[in-house]
Amino acid sequence: MRKTRIVCTLGPSSVEVLTLRRLFAAGMDVARLNFSHGDEATHRAAVKAVRQVAQETGRYVALLQDLQGPKIRTGALTEPLVRVLLADGQIELKVRGTHGNGQVTCSVVRGGLLGERKGVAIPGRSLTMPALTAKDKQDLALGAELQFDYVAISFVRSPADVQACREEMERLGWRAPVVAKLEKLQAIRNLRDIIAASDAVMVARGDLGVEMALGEVPAIQKDIINRANRAGVPVITATEMLESMVTSNRPTRAEASDVANAIWDGTDAVMLSQETSTGAHPVEAVRAMSRICLAAENHPAYLRERPVWKEDSLSSAIAHASAQVATEVNARYIIAFTESGATALRVSKSRPPVPVIAASPYGAVLRRTALYAGVIPLEVGMGKDTDDMIDKAVKAAMAQGIVRNGDRVLFIAGVPVGKPGQTNMLKVETIRE
Ligand code: PGA
Ligand code: MN
Repeated sequence: MRKTRIVCTLGPSSVEVLTLRRLFAAGMDVARLNFSHGDEATHRAAVKAVRQVAQETGRYVALLQDLQGPKIRTGALTEPLVRVLLADGQIELKVRGTHGNGQVTCSVVRGGLLGERKGVAIPGRSLTMPALTAKDKQDLALGAELQFDYVAISFVRSPADVQACREEMERLGWRAPVVAKLEKLQAIRNLRDIIAASDAVMVARGDLGVEMALGEVPAIQKDIINRANRAGVPVITATEMLESMVTSNRPTRAEASDVANAIWDGTDAVMLSQETSTGAHPVEAVRAMSRICLAAENHPAYLRERPVWKEDSLSSAIAHASAQVATEVNARYIIAFTESGATALRVSKSRPPVPVIAASPYGAVLRRTALYAGVIPLEVGMGKDTDDMIDKAVKAAMAQGIVRNGDRVLFIAGVPVGKPGQTNMLKVETIRE
């Protein structure tokens, strides 16, 4: 079983139901809708199509709304002679003069083919634009209506930006976990606080690579992943992972190596952007990604080199103990009863040697676990008490063909049932029907 999760950006190459079915089969865990592109109608259609295929296949694929964020407008420039990078740094311009009416004159330093709606970056400059633009707020209202499972915010600079998004969501009467996209120098400076304030983070290498010297990005990636793991926060590594597959039907050696190394760095998820949104081989890209993940996870470095999340709490102690006990008693699975997803995430971040089954009655919680490494979602109705809960989970897991007779399984939960609070129970059982 693959543990690393795969985030696929949907677009013209992938939103048709027929292609989506193949993406599901190839292993897509999270479907990302990029709100820098497309209109309301295309987003609605995409959400509908993903839900339709999820329903058909009984899979818990999470829908991620990725907000455009404060895009830098060259019209805001006041100083002449700054540099401007287009299309993730492929094209470089030098500003020659400003005209005071929001227009600038540039000369081309490094030319190239410029597509529509490519990013514009002014390296090293601070933005005075608010974290959530008017468009983001409008998009969030649509997100609330469509009930996305995650919201990603672009160009985060401080924990206050994450908070601003949460407040806007609250205003809309909506609660969903927030992913902070780390793609600005200021975000790297405020890394610890942003990670602490976020439900998940993304190493957004596309914009990071223009915000700072490209050579710095691999080290920053390692640093972000390391800190996110120590903080118990899921982390996605994004952009250009299998870039050559936008046109080619197989990845380069360097790309395979990049994906594997991100996994050995400790990333929970890897992301495909143009590879699946506009590329020629979306399904092959997911298949290739999945194969590389599996091979990387089979190497001893996968478990050995990951820092383990630690927190001074009983819940944390039980999560760690479950990973330890699972190793020592040769368990096949850890079943984590989880009402918010937190228990499943804690075990996932404790790097257990076996898959974690997240048992929950709530579809939204099960979809949320699609971003957690090594977690299998399992719908289990509420139990009357601990024994009933275990009984229901075993039946459901056996019906799905996950757990078999004779398997040794670990259970962790917060008991008594139905009372939210800390994880305080660990039980080992050998399944006998
Ligand atoms: P984007 O974010 O694809 O929305 O720009 C990811 C990145 O910058 O790497
Ligand atoms: Mn970006």
